[in-house]
Amino acid sequence: MANKLMKHSKNVNGKWYCTSSADDSGEGCIACGVCYGSLPSIFAEDENGEAYVTRQPNNPSEETLVQEQMDACPIGAIGNDG
Ligand code: SF4
Repeated sequence: MANKLMKHSKNVNGKWYCTSSADDSGEGCIACGVCYGSLPSIFAEDENGEAYVTRQPNNPSEETLVQEQMDACPIGAIGNDG
């Protein structure tokens, strides 16, 4: 489970977030590119390739798409308890 105390500083406020690479628990973003490569309407990359959430999903279908990225993240760096 992503650590909501270790969010990337650029996440918009809200339920969904990405963790910072500074989270050394093994669940900090490793800049693999999966989430923002697959769903650029919600996720973006910073100057280091790390992911953050640019806007929260606003309907059930978008929520499902974000959930898919959460499930696909190889290290669990996407959270929904923010
Ligand atoms: S899928 Fe996970 S590790 Fe990869 S860029 Fe997105 S948050 Fe980071």
